[in-house]
Amino acid sequence: MKIQMVNLKDQYLEIKSEIDSAIHNVLDKTDFICGDKVFEFANNLSHYIGSKHCVTCANGTDALQIALMAIDTNPGDEIIVPSFTYIATAEVIALLRLVPVLVDVNYNTFTINADLIERNITEKTKAIIPVHLYGQSAEMEKILKLAEKYNLYVIEDNAQAIGACYKFSNGLKKNTGSLGHIGCTSFYPSKNLGCYGDGGAMFTDDDKIYEKLKMISNHGQIKKYYHSIVGCNSRLDTLQAAILDVKLKYLDDYNLKRIEAAHFYTQNLKTIEEIIVPEEMDYSTHVYHQYTIKVLNNKRDELQRYLEGLNIPSMIYYPVSLENQKAFMGIALKRNNLDVSKQLANSVLSIPMHSELTEDQQKHIIRGIQSFFS
Ligand SMILES: *Cc1c(COP(=O)(O)O)cnc(C)c1O
Repeated sequence: MKIQMVNLKDQYLEIKSEIDSAIHNVLDKTDFICGDKVFEFANNLSHYIGSKHCVTCANGTDALQIALMAIDTNPGDEIIVPSFTYIATAEVIALLRLVPVLVDVNYNTFTINADLIERNITEKTKAIIPVHLYGQSAEMEKILKLAEKYNLYVIEDNAQAIGACYKFSNGLKKNTGSLGHIGCTSFYPSKNLGCYGDGGAMFTDDDKIYEKLKMISNHGQIKKYYHSIVGCNSRLDTLQAAILDVKLKYLDDYNLKRIEAAHFYTQNLKTIEEIIVPEEMDYSTHVYHQYTIKVLNNKRDELQRYLEGLNIPSMIYYPVSLENQKAFMGIALKRNNLDVSKQLANSVLSIPMHSELTEDQQKHIIRGIQSFFS
């Protein structure tokens, strides 16, 4: 049995004729940059997310960078980020000569601990970037309240949670990516909505921010060859937009398959004493970009090697928290200890999760984990 972390080939084969004809339509038109499909897809995606506007760009990292460029900052201003996330979230902050302020995460949800944010806010703080890690929303209600109180921007890193739904305490439901001032996402092939290369997008309800995002991602130009601000070249290819526009129709279905697979894992793994299965919170649905367990008693690496021997792949997202990344030494600030992040880096293990997992594959993975602990 061949088991993969992600299975893009079988997912493609399921919708091959639709994808192939979408690609051929672009080839026929040869409108490779800023073609009609780019705007059609952006429109459909903003409708899906529930935001007024969507601007597509070249990748998820650029989306975060352009979002930060669109809010008013001065070099040295502080941006609050979780210390346990993918490097891109904090990398763009440093790149723009802003200061990432690292805040620890919740042990049970892996997302930024909202109760630690307020003590990290100073006069220099401009924004908070919560990350909806592994597919479940951060504690957005608390974060949005703080942002309002201190007049801060909230930029969501929604690269791993497209399609997740947040529930406010008054019952209001909104998709992640539409909750903050700007939402950012990635279409990296293995993401829940992935293209066949690199891609990304930003969401906003604010007309002024929308105009800025559009300009910045296209050389800061107001019309061709007239540039009113310094921007960059970050666009989604028409080919990728055409592929994404097909796949968007299947996103809910893909997410549902991930959720079903996740629940099957949880049902069968929750009784193992030395692991902790992912927890679903009542304030958010979970779209399981990753199914990530915590392995107790320092047995994570041993379990991973054991599974490898059974041809069961697994990955560590992420083995080093931002605090300990060499690139951030002397750049990132911390005002509190970040012990939970460190603990997670030493205990998390993600097992195969994608929309094409079969029940037999899942059973094989579950038996592998069970046999290690028995
Ligand atoms: C994938 C990812 C990004 C970056 O997206 P790219 O398209 O690879 O640039 C940013 N943040 C998180 C949490 C991600 O998972």
